[in-house]
Amino acid sequence: CPYVVCTKKGCNPHKSDKGCFCEEAIPREMYEKFVPDKIDKLDKYIAWMYALDKGDIVKCPGKDCELWLKQTDNSTRATCLCGHTFCFYCQKEPHNPVPCKQWEDFKDRGNEKNLESLWLKSSTLPCPKCRAPIEKNRACLHMTCICGHEFCWACKITWSKVGHSYYNCPKFKKLEDAKQRDIEQQKALRELGKYKWYERQMEITKDDIKEMKDLKEKWEVEMQAKTKSYRDYAFIFESIDALLLAKEQMLNMSIIAFYFQGKNMSWTCKKCTFRNPSGEHCQMCSAKQAKSDRKTGVHSKKEMFELQQKMGVDATSKLIKMFEKKKLDDVLKNKKNVLTCANACRKFITQLVEDIESGAYTAYILDRPDDSVSGWFCIRCDKMNKFSSTVCTSPGCDSCQVHGEPACLRCNPKN
Ligand SMILES: [Zn+2]
Ligand SMILES: [Zn+2]
Ligand SMILES: [Zn+2]
Ligand SMILES: [Zn+2]
Ligand SMILES: [Zn+2]
Ligand SMILES: [Zn+2]
Ligand SMILES: [Zn+2]
Ligand SMILES: [Zn+2]
Repeated sequence: CPYVVCTKKGCNPHKSDKGCFCEEAIPREMYEKFVPDKIDKLDKYIAWMYALDKGDIVKCPGKDCELWLKQTDNSTRATCLCGHTFCFYCQKEPHNPVPCKQWEDFKDRGNEKNLESLWLKSSTLPCPKCRAPIEKNRACLHMTCICGHEFCWACKITWSKVGHSYYNCPKFKKLEDAKQRDIEQQKALRELGKYKWYERQMEITKDDIKEMKDLKEKWEVEMQAKTKSYRDYAFIFESIDALLLAKEQMLNMSIIAFYFQGKNMSWTCKKCTFRNPSGEHCQMCSAKQAKSDRKTGVHSKKEMFELQQKMGVDATSKLIKMFEKKKLDDVLKNKKNVLTCANACRKFITQLVEDIESGAYTAYILDRPDDSVSGWFCIRCDKMNKFSSTVCTSPGCDSCQVHGEPACLRCNPKN
């Protein structure tokens, strides 16, 4: 029987299958003395009960490990004596300071299937005749299905009967479902663009990490042949480690940034579906912005977070420049600067991670990516553009924000 046996008068723990909770258990020494073979079971039982009660200790998910760990600070990262590291809350690989929910969601988004379904949502319409998804040809309203059916994207009328141009459906403004579809598609496109942009930033960071790891390995080998002792070079390897840690955290910061509440003033016109950068009246149809769409003020927390992120980027890129294409002995001569930068990296990690883990930003890290991003992503060339420009500013691109079409006839009928 694994239960703690109670010595209190009148208490009979065996009446309950949950054991006894009156806490007047037999002292541990008694167990050790009389039933030493049961002590292991007793420990497990106590741990279980404690975990059920307090919820702040968890069993290490490491292979064959029976140890229990207690969370002692704000960090969700657990390091077991067996060497296994994991997240306190979800018991999967550690991902602090990214909350479990956002970490799982971000991983899910990278999934081929989910990316495809978002793309289908953003760029296709099922054929009204055979239901096969047809890719929308950017701004052009003319849809042609593989089944041969041709129709207008907005009014869904057979093309031979629409009697309107490729870019202007006069019925569009009156068709609530078409407008809704347009808004949904634009939203899906923005979400897709935002994910891809962050994913690319993370790829760049991962490349940096790989490059630095390779360099560290190479220098470790080189150092063996040097006449000077390891102690002279130690600061270099310690600085690379600080750099690597900072870069790893920057990957996490990208995920957090993806979910961070936006601060821009952009809004989508309910009348014509145009995405306005700011202002109270639609730039396209001059309709007034709905009260519910109104946003106020600048987002100081977002600015703080971005400033901290920028500090990390500055410190790490400076340090990389001190290592990249350099000889080991050149770095040795640059000791003072390397140490200053490595310290800046360390400061950046501890400060930002601490701030996030202590909950300073919790209210601003949303469950879903904020639809209002700080810019828009060109569908054609993937560049992030400012909301102040309605066409892509990438040289030679000139695509519109909504359809990714150069000199778009739908966004600007006067063209
Ligand atoms: Zn009892
Ligand atoms: Zn363990
Ligand atoms: Zn977790
Ligand atoms: Zn069809
Ligand atoms: Zn039409
Ligand atoms: Zn409008
Ligand atoms: Zn572009
Ligand atoms: Zn357009």
